[in-house]
Amino acid sequence: MPEHKVLLSLRGLRKTFDTQEALDGLDLDVFEGEFITLLGPSGCGKTTTLRIIAGLEMPTEGSVHLDGQDITHLAPEKREVNTVFQNYALFPHMNVYKNIAYGLALRGMDKSDIKRRVNEMLDLVQLEGYEKRMPSQLSGGQRQRVAIARSLILSPKLLLLDEPLGALDLQLRRQMQQELKSMQQLLCITFIYITHDQVEALPMSDRIALMRSGRFVQLDTPKGLYEQPHTAFAASFIGETNLVTARVEAIKEKEVLLNIAGFTLPCYCEDWLTPGENILLSLRAERIHLSALPVNTPCRVTGELIESHYAGGERVSLIRLMDGQVLRVRATTESEAEPELGSTVYAWWNQLSGVIVRDDRVSS
Ligand code: ATP
Repeated sequence: MPEHKVLLSLRGLRKTFDTQEALDGLDLDVFEGEFITLLGPSGCGKTTTLRIIAGLEMPTEGSVHLDGQDITHLAPEKREVNTVFQNYALFPHMNVYKNIAYGLALRGMDKSDIKRRVNEMLDLVQLEGYEKRMPSQLSGGQRQRVAIARSLILSPKLLLLDEPLGALDLQLRRQMQQELKSMQQLLCITFIYITHDQVEALPMSDRIALMRSGRFVQLDTPKGLYEQPHTAFAASFIGETNLVTARVEAIKEKEVLLNIAGFTLPCYCEDWLTPGENILLSLRAERIHLSALPVNTPCRVTGELIESHYAGGERVSLIRLMDGQVLRVRATTESEAEPELGSTVYAWWNQLSGVIVRDDRVSS
């Protein structure tokens, strides 16, 4: 992320449709040149947020500022913001060249300048030679490249992308993700990207705003969100995690002693803990190690191996602890020989891998 100048500010954004509250007070600063992703389950308010930024929807309350200017009530075409939607939205009766040139032609730009800019864009999205094709003669990935070129040619301050790769197959999707990220870095245009796919969000984004029920639950770097989730929802939305119930036995400054199924082990402390209470510990499935022999490490429990199956590069195992809780473990298949089903195994992890999270599982 090149700079720390705020380009877009959302303040106290609320949106109610009839009785349905879609957004419940959003505050966000997006920095110039940043790739920020709005991530969250279906219906959490991602598209509504984007539509308000684009001017296609008015907020019930709150404001939108772009580059210091209040644009809350500005018409969409007057904003230096463009949007790429999932369904391409190309003009079907225009060829690729005309689709890409359209916005500049509307602005009355000189024909030779338009030609130069369109050629630059064709080069950028790797569609040289496709100028005369009609949208119906293109694949999904090619159509989406045209849609992206058509938006980028206008040099918007901000590009909004609403699940732009959602209609593509997995392989093409992964390829286009890398291309999009490279284009964004090359052009230094600020991107706000929507997805409900965490695999897509992690490698592309500078920051991720995780949404739930019209609110941001955590705004963080991909690493921060994955390694230090604040809540049970954040921990389980990104990656695969075990939410282990533990009891706080004692608190010693920055460390807390937890009791998990009869074992006492240390964990880094959160300031809201009280001795005696039950808490949730997030343990990523791939951060737990298994051993048939005792291991000399503070963060370990024992349990019964109740299931184990080969899954390509990794083995997935289920360990039942003494109190009935089941740990899911993913270990690379290069590691040691797998213990037998029904045997007692040692499950252990680095202290840093256990993260105490707030229990927000019941509220929606
Ligand atoms: P998805 O990932 O499924 O696209 P989303 O996170 O983008 O979901 P939104 O489309 O922003 O979610 O919708 C947020 C909430 O607002 C949902 O409960 C939705 O039903 C509601 N909603 C959105 N648009 C309207 C509308 N025009 N009228 C009534 N309710 C709406």
